[in-house]
Amino acid sequence: MVISNTIESDSRALLDYTYASRYDRTDLPRFKIAEHPIPKEAAYQIINDELMLDANPRLDLASFVTTWMEPECDKLIMAAINKNYVDMYQYPVTTELQDRCVNMIANLFNAPLEDSKSAVGVGTIGSSEAIMLAGLAFKRRWQNKMRAASKPCDKPNIVAGANVQICWKKFANYFEVELKEVKLSEGYYVMDPKKAVEMVDENTICVAAILGSTLNGEFEDIKLLNDLLVAKNEQTRWDTPIHVDAASGGFIAPFLYPGLEWDFRLPLVKSINVSGHKYGLVYPGIGWVIWRSNEDLPEELIFEINYLGTKQRTFTLNFSKGSSQIIAQYYQLIRLGLKGYKRIMENCKVNAEHLKKGLENTQCFNIVSKDNGVPLVAFSLKNHSQHNEFQISNMLRGFGWSVPAYTMPPDAQRITVLRVVIREDFSRTLADQLVNDIVKVLQDLGILPSVPEENGVANTTQVAGVC
Ligand SMILES: *Cc1c(COP(=O)(O)O)cnc(C)c1O
Repeated sequence: MVISNTIESDSRALLDYTYASRYDRTDLPRFKIAEHPIPKEAAYQIINDELMLDANPRLDLASFVTTWMEPECDKLIMAAINKNYVDMYQYPVTTELQDRCVNMIANLFNAPLEDSKSAVGVGTIGSSEAIMLAGLAFKRRWQNKMRAASKPCDKPNIVAGANVQICWKKFANYFEVELKEVKLSEGYYVMDPKKAVEMVDENTICVAAILGSTLNGEFEDIKLLNDLLVAKNEQTRWDTPIHVDAASGGFIAPFLYPGLEWDFRLPLVKSINVSGHKYGLVYPGIGWVIWRSNEDLPEELIFEINYLGTKQRTFTLNFSKGSSQIIAQYYQLIRLGLKGYKRIMENCKVNAEHLKKGLENTQCFNIVSKDNGVPLVAFSLKNHSQHNEFQISNMLRGFGWSVPAYTMPPDAQRITVLRVVIREDFSRTLADQLVNDIVKVLQDLGILPSVPEENGVANTTQVAGVC
């Protein structure tokens, strides 16, 4: 019997110990799919090994996105990994869980619901998709209104602070809406409501306010924005609405600052987005958009499909997607309850304050973040004569930490900050270790004098005025 060489070598390969196989010393395909399969053990081991060079997500202090969930939830996630969310006929319970999440989040944001089931909203891949949908609803409503009044509707605009997250720039670009940015200034890094309202004109489809600026975590003054806009609307007879981008703050404000009015309690707030995968405490791939009422979501944007076995109404950009994140969101909402979320957010806030104190003790930094906002610490070097924040960021990588440095948008470009986002899984021990490592970096750069370590812990008590 003649066996071809390839078959013989492939079957031998199946017996090989992975690191003794030829796969361990041949290049893996990068540009073209290879002709032949490779054993699953080798594929697993080689990819797993290459991924070791990625950073450790838990030490990525740049990201707001969840990096830890309970093992019980991991089980639910894996059990649903093969369910396509769009097959609602097949998976009616999953659809029901998404509806429950929409209702719960709408309630959390004080939507004026007639009964507990009337919330209008949808789960998305993240806040970016949620913002595209909210933006499209505003654009369509505005166009309908302008057409009805026989006015031109080809030059829509959105007013927002120059601190907007990139997804607003994408929305403006992809859907051809002009983004009118309110400039920042040194020492004030969020949208000034007064300036924003001055920029509103008849073509403004909405003002986008941010609850928790990506740059420094600060909440914009949405109550003041609402009041100024109500007055302007009365005077001009326009009805310019507000969208709140609560990507990171939507799961913080209700627990830490319940008295703060930023949501549907304000009459001009017509839609809100939140990232389930940020402080909603779910792994990446989930966001939510909630509308105040049916009126705020033009019916013509909703598609009805029936070829999957039942009539379904959908308003999303994607068709197929996973179900796991929706299930995981429902897990967190029922597992934690209001008290559970509150405690986690309080821990994050306390740990942010602790880190801030540690950084202040070095006397080398100005703190740029605010105490009420998203639990993060943004800070700048006091003295830039010898070194800058990018060097510190690079050197911290050597310790395993990822702490980004970036410059502020116009007109505050002169300011560079380092930012540490405090997530649920960033404990006080890690905060202390981070301060310790930052002090070592400052010493290596010669910004701080080297003081002998005490039992391996950098001495952070410094002489005033060194920086
Ligand atoms: C993170 C963030 C976004 C984008 O959210 P994704 O869920 O990552 O798509 C939008 N706006 C703000 C303020 C954010 O912080």
